[in-house]
Amino acid sequence: MLIDSHAHLDSPRYAEDREAMLLRAREAGVGVVLSIGIGEGPAEMHQALDLCREFNGRRQKGANLPRLYASAGIYPHNTPEADDGIIAKLDALLAEPEVIACGEIGLDYYHEGAPRDVQRAGLIRQLEIAAARKRPILIHCRGTNESADAWDDLFPVLEEHWRSTGLGGVMHCFGGGWEQARRSLNLGFLISFAGNLTYPKAQPLRDVAARLPVESLLVETDAPWLAPALHRGERNEPALVVETAEVLAGLLNITPDEIAAATTANFLRSFHLQPDVGN
Ligand SMILES: [Zn+2]
Repeated sequence: MLIDSHAHLDSPRYAEDREAMLLRAREAGVGVVLSIGIGEGPAEMHQALDLCREFNGRRQKGANLPRLYASAGIYPHNTPEADDGIIAKLDALLAEPEVIACGEIGLDYYHEGAPRDVQRAGLIRQLEIAAARKRPILIHCRGTNESADAWDDLFPVLEEHWRSTGLGGVMHCFGGGWEQARRSLNLGFLISFAGNLTYPKAQPLRDVAARLPVESLLVETDAPWLAPALHRGERNEPALVVETAEVLAGLLNITPDEIAAATTANFLRSFHLQPDVGN
């Protein structure tokens, strides 16, 4: 069984075929999908949980679907919208049993968006809420023109406001170098690879992945974005996490079954879930 640790199932790009898309995922061996709750803004933060309940309900009635979990969070560029009402909404969502993580949250200096100090303040506010609700966090971190500037701002925040919680989290769609990977492991984070691991120009990222302990790894799609190399440019979907997992297995000189078992165990351990969740 594989777990897609990060998919935007509420994307309007699945409006026509969401159930068929999830059936394909189960068919491909994906037993669990973490449905990311950022919407296209905080007003839609609840959509991931709604989908989680809807499709888990159909699954309980016998549909051959992956088990869904949800997250909730305010994306870095949406942090200017994080007023008291939105923060209260996030807190209420994180109290729900299916909402197992706060994210994706973090710092993004790559795209023009929210000012850096607003992103940082929004991140810290969400760390406080996630800590109180005892939810691990899903971090999005991307620097200017692939530099490490956002990482250099991120790590001191996590050291000061997160390490002591012991809750850990996931570096989602990891795109940093060895130094950023090492510091993430040191903070007790898992490192999740998406389809960009498979791209021809991503050799530096593959070199980092090859050095990582298998106990620290997850795979994800970040669907509908970042379809793996064989489907690049197409709409991505959770079934395609298989391709990224195969590439990762090759880098570590283990079998696809072994990477599936390891990433599944890592996910279940980090989010304190029972090992029978995909059955
Ligand atoms: Zn994402």
